[in-house]
Amino acid sequence: MEDNSMYDIAGIGIGPFNLGLAALCAPIQSLKTIFLEAQPEFNWHAGMLLPGSTLQVSYLADLVTLADPCSAFMYLNFLRKQGRLLQFGIHENNVITRREYNRYCRWVCDQLSNLQFNWHVTDVGYGEDGPYYRITGVHPFTGASRSIRARHVVIGIGTQPSIPGFAASLLGDQVLHSSQYLKYRAAVSHSKRIVVVGSGQSAAEIFYDLLQNGAVPGQHLSWMTRSPRFYAMEHTKLSFEMATPAYIDHFYQLSQTRKPVTIQQQDTLYKGVNYQLINAIYDRLYELMTEGMPVPVTLMTNVSLKEMRPSKTKGWVLQFHHEEQEQCFELEAEHIILATGYKTIAPPFLKSIKHLIRYDAQGHFNITRKYAIDEKDTLFVQNAEMHTHGFTAPELGLGPYRNAVIINTILGTTYYPVDEQTVFQQFGVPLQ
Ligand SMILES: Cc1cc2nc3c(=O)[nH]c(=O)nc-3n(C[C@H](O)[C@H](O)[C@H](O)COP(=O)(O)OP(=O)(O)OC[C@H]3O[C@@H](n4cnc5c(N)ncnc54)[C@H](O)[C@@H]3O)c2cc1C
Repeated sequence: MEDNSMYDIAGIGIGPFNLGLAALCAPIQSLKTIFLEAQPEFNWHAGMLLPGSTLQVSYLADLVTLADPCSAFMYLNFLRKQGRLLQFGIHENNVITRREYNRYCRWVCDQLSNLQFNWHVTDVGYGEDGPYYRITGVHPFTGASRSIRARHVVIGIGTQPSIPGFAASLLGDQVLHSSQYLKYRAAVSHSKRIVVVGSGQSAAEIFYDLLQNGAVPGQHLSWMTRSPRFYAMEHTKLSFEMATPAYIDHFYQLSQTRKPVTIQQQDTLYKGVNYQLINAIYDRLYELMTEGMPVPVTLMTNVSLKEMRPSKTKGWVLQFHHEEQEQCFELEAEHIILATGYKTIAPPFLKSIKHLIRYDAQGHFNITRKYAIDEKDTLFVQNAEMHTHGFTAPELGLGPYRNAVIINTILGTTYYPVDEQTVFQQFGVPLQ
């Protein structure tokens, strides 16, 4: 089905970043926008919506507030509409649960008329009879094809689970990525031997969940990571100053060879585990010990998972390599949860317009400071710019800022003011 109407902006993917863009575009009368999502509805990382798990940022980092503190789509207005605003005030907690954040985002979806679900984009072409993009997609269930036209495109397709090569063909109900955890949680929690691999926030949340709710007597729970320690995400105000436009400005002008080195040194700014959760895990282990219950766990750092094969029983044999001792050893498990993170993938639907896109020598997008990947500022990306703009690319708190920059660039005027100098420290050499 061809929709010949012309849109000013088409967003591909409706995760928090493009949803925020849709909400910030909604009040701008001069912009006709449409946002396309492959899934039937908004559901934020559904496999990890564990009870009690929280955002790692304040509620102020909602979809819009940091770009437009008067927006009707802010979290506080959601609370007002739910009749919970005063209770939130008494609750006095800046951090909301992920389930609550998901409810809030779904509420924003309900208010917007520029979102279309069940729209899996398969191709972006360039209009031959004018400066516009033709976006083609299919309905995931009926297979019906459809297309629209737009002058600007904003790609917000997020990231994909990162799975070790040797495990990819083994995925199923016993070997799973953390993004699938809730789907299999009931079966996993009845397992005799469980191994969680990885040491980020997802690994810690799953380990803690199993530690709290493990249902089988004699269950053995292992938490294995390649990292040299179970480390906490930095939580200091001077580190938070690095999640700002001022730091992005600094990082952006570093050399291409320096950027990856700097990012490698910044693990604790965006990876690792919330320190309260690390402590809660320790406290739970301590409680189990003092209550006289055998502590049924193995926790190991410096161990890299190298291989997996079916065991003679109904489970799996995992081969690990101890990075410091340079020795291999094996572990058996019935269920393996690979909390091995996420990776950025090149959007598969850009083949027809490759010639319009800016690439660097490594074949990655060469993204402008204003998040465009073409010369004319008509094609933008969200959350794909870690190699150019730094570690804050996936950070929810910077979504409204990035959206304000994209909107201002498209409009050619400052519709949403952005805060530039908001830090006490200085990241580069003093200007002469
Ligand atoms: C479990 C988890 C918790 C996190 N918690 C935090 C946190 O507390 N604070 C923080 O700052 N960051 C957090 N992050 C990091 C980050 O902010 C999130 O990953 C966020 O969801 C990224 O938003 P996004 O819009 O880029 O992508 P996504 O949320 O991944 O959404 C992308 C959407 O694009 C759709 N899509 C993909 N391809 C197509 C296509 N071809 N056609 C149409 N649609 C398509 C997908 O279906 C998906 O819905 C978390 C990440 C995870 C995994």
